[in-house]
Formats: sequence, C-alpha cells, structure tokens
Amino acid sequence: MERKFFHGNIQPVDIAQALLAEFNQGNLRAQTLGASDKLIVQVSTSPNASSGGQTALTVTIQSGEDGVIVEAGQQAWLGVAASLGASALSAIRNPFSLFGRLDDIAQDLENLQLVEKVWKVIEQAVKTSGASTQLSERLRRVTCEFCHTANPVGEPACLACGAPLGMAQPNACPHCGFVVTKHERICPNCKEKL
Ligand SMILES: [Zn+2]
Ligand SMILES: [Zn+2]
Repeated sequence: MERKFFHGNIQPVDIAQALLAEFNQGNLRAQTLGASDKLIVQVSTSPNASSGGQTALTVTIQSGEDGVIVEAGQQAWLGVAASLGASALSAIRNPFSLFGRLDDIAQDLENLQLVEKVWKVIEQAVKTSGASTQLSERLRRVTCEFCHTANPVGEPACLACGAPLGMAQPNACPHCGFVVTKHERICPNCKEKL
C-alpha cells in the first residue's frame, strides 16, 4: 500500500476521471464508487479477458486539507469496506467475494506493473491540474504567532515584526508529499530520508 499527498487545487474526481479514461478499455475494467470527497476506483481485468491473470487493485482518493490523498494497493479492499460504511457498501454487489481473491491477486505479477501504471496516470493527472507533492502556496505560509502575518516558508524571522519563526515551518516530503516539520529526518509516511 502506497500513500501519496498531492497539494494544490485538485479534486478527487480529476484523478478518478483520468484513471477511468486510461483503464476502462481493452482487457481492463475500471469503476468508481463513493461520494465526491472520497472516491474509490477499482481497476480489474475484464471477466472475459482472453489472456493474463485476474487482476484487481483499488485506488482510494480523498480530499485532504490542501489537495488530495491517494492510496493504491491490492489489499485496500479490506480497509475500504470498513471505511466506506454500510450505505456505500450496498453499492458494491458482493464485496466479500473480493476477500477470496486476495491470494490470487498477490501472486499476480501483471498486477505489479498495473500499480506502477496507475501511479503514472495519477501523477500525470496531478501535473495537468497544476498540483504536486510540493506544498501549495497556501500551506507554504508560516503565520507569525505574535502579529499573525503570513510569512513565506524559509524566512527565519517575521517580515512584519521581526519575531523568530523557528522550527514550526511546514515542508513536504519530496517522495510522497506528506507534510513534515523541519526537524524530521525520516518521512513518517513513506520512510524515505528527507
Ligand atoms: Zn510577526
Ligand atoms: Zn514521504
């Protein structure tokens, strides 16, 4: 399971539409579930695919404080079932039939390539909308606790009153976009070195 944070003016539907356009064709089927602030896109092999194993993977896209949070992985269905709640679950004809498929899915080599492809499409959609794993202008501001002026990230002292801005300045992991503080050395989300 990989989780990435994209910052900027982007909605879950932007990513869901890009995934549908790319994957709902050929031997693949893609469908969207959920409401506008939390969408789930399931990509699977079509039931009558002539070649290749059974492949299914789930992409969860939700609105974040500053953009969207995207998770993709083969085993997300378990978490999805719990987080969607009863009303959304009734939209899925038989969610429990998926649990029995997890073993097949884990062994499916084709699937690994699909995960990579899915992330590429997501990153392209993010790029098109002008968002990125870097912090947006709005979050790239540090509010001075003394005079409440918004200062650009990286300023050592408040531009208005000169008070030190210290270590509270937010930053984003260049790998996954998780918001970290200046003194963090390892990203809590993806465990990459910062
Ligand atoms: Zn100030
Ligand atoms: Zn990270």
